[in-house]
Amino acid sequence: MRHHRIASIPADGIGPEVIAAGLEVLDALATRDGGFVLDVEHYDWGSERYKKTGAFMPDDALATLKKADAIFFGAVGAIDVPDHISLWGLRLPICQGFDQYANIRPTRVLPGVVSPLRDVGPGDLDWLIVRENSEGEYAGHGGRAHRGLPEEVATEVAIFTRVGVERIMRYAFNCARNRPRKHITIVTKSNAQKFGLVMWDEIALEVAADYPDVTWDKELVDAMTMRMVRKPQSIDTVVATNLHADILSDLAAALAGSLGVAPTGNVNPSKNYPSMFEPIHGSAFDITGKGIANPVATFWTGALMLEHLGEPRAAAALMTAIEQVCAAGILTPDVGGTSTTKDVTLAMVDAIRGANT
Ligand code: NAD
Ligand code: MN
Repeated sequence: MRHHRIASIPADGIGPEVIAAGLEVLDALATRDGGFVLDVEHYDWGSERYKKTGAFMPDDALATLKKADAIFFGAVGAIDVPDHISLWGLRLPICQGFDQYANIRPTRVLPGVVSPLRDVGPGDLDWLIVRENSEGEYAGHGGRAHRGLPEEVATEVAIFTRVGVERIMRYAFNCARNRPRKHITIVTKSNAQKFGLVMWDEIALEVAADYPDVTWDKELVDAMTMRMVRKPQSIDTVVATNLHADILSDLAAALAGSLGVAPTGNVNPSKNYPSMFEPIHGSAFDITGKGIANPVATFWTGALMLEHLGEPRAAAALMTAIEQVCAAGILTPDVGGTSTTKDVTLAMVDAIRGANT
């Protein structure tokens, strides 16, 4: 029996609702497949803890998490805590501390889910966005001076390093190589940002030479938004900076039907620290506690985690169950249905138990 240690951090808003649903489905898979067990450790870190103690997580949090094989994360953010405090208090220290430099964001129109794009169905939109996750515009370099005075100044410096750019390019080209289309689009803004993004383009070109079997093209980020809407079929794998990919992937999620179906993995490819898997969406205050959060993003996130843990069969079974349940119209309101989180979760467990028997 293979054991995988999972650190579960549901955190805020709908986080606990979708993580509970996700763990229920993962448990059904483990039980049915018989080949592995998930040893789940729960951590109640998040905004409530911050409001009580002044810290989102304990001082030794990373040392604790380091023992896990993967982290299953919900969402962080509360109405009465500034967003930059919550993001830098919990999620980013884990991503940066564990060198999770590759953020992967698969997007697909699932059967039964309707894209807001006319005539775009499951085969037409099937993307993998690879986001640089350790530096760039979110490096945390900058400062403020002369606060409150007329001459107040703030800088937010984007950091691009050769090591950082080259490793994300190689990771993305590898992803492209492993997908049927073997095509990658390099997103850039090297017309206006003439230092960091020009180096970004140069390194992309160098790396491309090592992947003769992968075709590539280049797109400015603003033009990329148009291409995603107008020619979704022309896109397969995408690599972009931390900020650009953050924005493009929300657009991707919306074009695929809802933020509620969009998964992500913060991957440390060398596996010297655990990777972290989470739905892309946030705490969703407007629907917290109503029982209607779409758990599909978290299920898909679970499939990415299983893949990373070396359980590709279980990951594939999970994706099949997601497609069956969506195709059967068992959908939450954000994707046009009337089902609850619980309904979708139970249907998933049934689909998993019923598979191939
Ligand atoms: P959000 O993702 O929480 O919500 C945006 C919209 O999408 C809302 O209308 C929400 O109801 C809907 N939505 C999101 N997930 C859904 C789901 N699973 N099912 C159905 N509908 C869903 O983004 P926001 O409103 O910009 O941010 C709210 C809070 O979450 C903020 O504090 C923000 O900082 C935080 N946030 C955290 C993360 C993270 O933890 N990774 C990501 C984004 C936002
Ligand atoms: Mn985002």
